[in-house]
Parts: sequence; C-alpha cells; structure tokens
Amino acid sequence: MSDAPVSARYYPAGGDAHGHPALLYWEGGHLLVAPEDSEPLRIRAAALRAEARGFNHSQWAIAWPGEGGEHLLIVADTAIAPLRAAAPALFASGAHAQRKTHRRFGLGVTALILLPLLLIAGIFLAVEPLADRVVEHIPPSIENQIGEAVLARTRLDSKLIEQGPAVDALQLIGKRLARPGENLRFYLAERPDINAFAAPGGVVVVYSGLMKQAGSAEDVAGVLAHEIAHVELRHSLRQIVRSAGLRVIVSALFGDYGALGGWGARLGELKFSRDAEREADARGLQRLAEAHIDPQGMLRFFETLARSENGTTSAVPTVFSTHPATAERIERLREALASQPAGAAQPIPVDWQAVRQALPDTRP
Ligand SMILES: [Zn+2]
Repeated sequence: MSDAPVSARYYPAGGDAHGHPALLYWEGGHLLVAPEDSEPLRIRAAALRAEARGFNHSQWAIAWPGEGGEHLLIVADTAIAPLRAAAPALFASGAHAQRKTHRRFGLGVTALILLPLLLIAGIFLAVEPLADRVVEHIPPSIENQIGEAVLARTRLDSKLIEQGPAVDALQLIGKRLARPGENLRFYLAERPDINAFAAPGGVVVVYSGLMKQAGSAEDVAGVLAHEIAHVELRHSLRQIVRSAGLRVIVSALFGDYGALGGWGARLGELKFSRDAEREADARGLQRLAEAHIDPQGMLRFFETLARSENGTTSAVPTVFSTHPATAERIERLREALASQPAGAAQPIPVDWQAVRQALPDTRP
C-alpha cells in the first residue's frame, strides 16, 4: 500500500459534473478509490490510464471504463508523488497510452466541458425560473442596497421634499400601515406625475402630484398599501432581476449582486404583470384592514385615476399604469369591499386641505 493516501476528485461514469472528494491508495497492483460519500472501489492497474492535464500539466487525470462511460479521477500534480512512486509504469506510460486512448478518454473530458455549456444553454431557455431562484436567495442586505440605489437615482431625477405638512402626513400614513418591526421608509419627491413606487429594502417614494390629486389621507393610504404589497411579495425585486438580463442573473447566482443594484435604479420604469397587480390589490386591502384604515380610499383613488384616464383631469396618471383595465379593477375592488366585513375604521387625523395647499402646484 502506498504510504499516504492521495486526495482526488472522483467523477463517476454518467454521474454529475461536480466531482466527489476521494482518497486514493495503491495496493498490490490495484488502485483503491475511497470516495467520501460512496463505497470504495478497487481497480486493476491494467484498466487504468493516466494523463497529465491542465495548464502546465498541473493535474493528473486517471480514467478507467465503467458502465455508461468512463470513471475519472482528477489529482493535483503536487499530490501525485506517492502514487507515482508506487506505480511508476502507469504514469510513465501515460503519454504513450494516451495516443491509443485519446479518443475515448477525450469523450469523458469533453463531457466535463460540455456540461457547463449545456447549463448555460439551459439558462437561456429558463431565464424566468432562474430569475425566481435568484430572487429567493437574495439576502436582505442586497435588497437594502438596491433600495439605496433606487433612492439615489430618485434624488438625481427629482427634489425630495424634506419637511412640511405633506411630509408629516406621509410619515403618519406610513407609520399606520407599517407592521411592527417592518422596515419601511417613505419619501416625497417633487414631481407632477400621479405616481408612487416601492423599491426592495422597503423604500417607498410618493410623488407630490399624487398627494395633490388625492382627496384624502385614506386615498394615499390605499396607494401605499398596494405599493408595499409589491415589495412584500418581492414583485419589485423579481421584476428587476428579470429585466436585468442573463449576465446579471448569472453574476447574482455566483453571489455578485453589484450589477443587480444598478438595475434597481430603473425601478420606476418597471411594469408588473396583471396577476401581480391583482395580488398587490388584495394584499393591500388586507393591510388596510389590519391598520384600521377605511379601504374605500383605495377605491376612490382608482376612480380618480379612471376619471383622469378619461381626460377629465389634465394630469396623466402613471401609477398603476400597467392596467388599462382600471374599470375592471374598480369592479373587483367594489366586490372585495362589499364582501369584506366593515371593520371599525379609525380616521387618519390629517387636515388634507392643508396638505394639498402646502404642496407646490405641479399640475401642468
Ligand atoms: Zn402595482
């Protein structure tokens, strides 16, 4: 038996491409392979072929035929000495034997190279499921980073209103909606659009145009509840990952989320599917009920939107802009509200007229 075991990676014939740690011994003309996670094997010297591989021949590949292909061992050149000393013929004849067996041996090696290529091809066919997997694994710290990127981008595009009755009102509404321990931050951007969006990491941005157009604090609460639901359901994150593209997804799969953060900054341009919107509406209603906020505000806001879509108001609504079918949504909300037991709503104590007057007149 060779004095010390030699560590190797074992790639069983027809097995996966990851390789399994194994220890190798030489004993009486046989190679003993002891994989960490399966039964040991004993292979006759005559069945084995060895070949130096890799850049600068830094590795040895030892192969033997098996069912469904070749078994393969990869050993670092720096570790091979005990085996080489025990079976000099095997390694001396490696270069010679290589010529005869090159094609068969090559097949096994080609499979190892092909597998990653197939994996990449698979990614092209399955970007959406993969995006969802990336989303599942994104840690909260990365979500926060994306949220910060979105906020930084918003600051570039528009002035954030830092104080005044509208900011106070927004903070009050936000506080009512947030659940204990939930990390939500609300910002008011000076922009004429009727819009609001929520970014991963709990960053919620409301445009002054929306607050100016809303009829009450409850209307705004309805919009915010819907937007928060998008974050809670990780819609924003998923949409960022999906639109970021393959390269960014692959980087993220390998733990590099930098490019993903950059993509987060484009959140305002993202569109959600109709199903995602429905889900966010339902979750939003749930949150309003929990917060004892009159859910009619959400309905009223949709009606405001419908009116402006019909051109009765001059502002162009961009919030909820993915749904041309606002009427259908209003109908669904009405039904949901009718079937929902009217809880005891507690009014949000805000002088809404004062809030509207304090906001700059941003209507075009
Ligand atoms: Zn939405």
